Amino acid sequence: MNALSPIRHDILNTTAPVMAQTHLTLKSGNVKTGPIPVSTTTADTCPAACPFNNKGGCYAAGGPLAIHWRKVTENKAGKAYADFLRDVAALPDGQLWRHNQAGDLAGQGDTLDTVALGQLVTANRGKRGFTYTHKPIAAGSHEAAAIARANASGFTVNLSGNDLAHADRLADLAIGPVVVVLPADATENTVTPQGRKVVICPATQRDDVSCATCGLCALQRLAIVGFPAHGASKRKAETVAKGAAH
Ligand code: SF4
Repeated sequence: MNALSPIRHDILNTTAPVMAQTHLTLKSGNVKTGPIPVSTTTADTCPAACPFNNKGGCYAAGGPLAIHWRKVTENKAGKAYADFLRDVAALPDGQLWRHNQAGDLAGQGDTLDTVALGQLVTANRGKRGFTYTHKPIAAGSHEAAAIARANASGFTVNLSGNDLAHADRLADLAIGPVVVVLPADATENTVTPQGRKVVICPATQRDDVSCATCGLCALQRLAIVGFPAHGASKRKAETVAKGAAH
């Protein structure tokens, strides 16, 4: 199949293409994730609504990950979405895996392709996939319903908060767990303005923890996971995390 061949949207009975191309590393060399399968998706899926996008401080825009991400975005690495789905379905039962160390859920920019998400939920059956999204999700929308369905069906979609107040608004949607960016020097758990507990990602604090041993982001949970701003542009990201970008 050509890299950009359309996959069938059976639910809508259309053949609208899912353009996102995704690379799946079966055993990641990333020390923060540990040796689990980790995917990377083309940058065209990143929403304009994400304040870290377009040199706004995204951790994935620098270092070795940026080089890999560029290759995927230029279709020099990775597979068409339908082939990626087959690879996910072939993972062992119970496998913890992380979707999108860079990139977002299928759909151009701010758009969430809910059919493509449903297909990924189906491919993930029996596995423990988790991901994060910065797509803007309106309360009561069909996109919100699709994310709620994913979270109820074993594929964990964390809503990514830009700052603690934004994390509260995302949690109010009640469609899935929430994560949030914290100031770069954060080392301890904290709370949101509405009093929700924020647990700092242990892999950012300890060398003996990785996603492979933690798995917190794959759980349906009330606690918000906090990530201190990191990467080459962490000061820019920190500006967002401190709420200064609004
Ligand atoms: S909280 Fe756990 S699962 Fe989530 S990113 Fe950190 S180490 Fe990985």
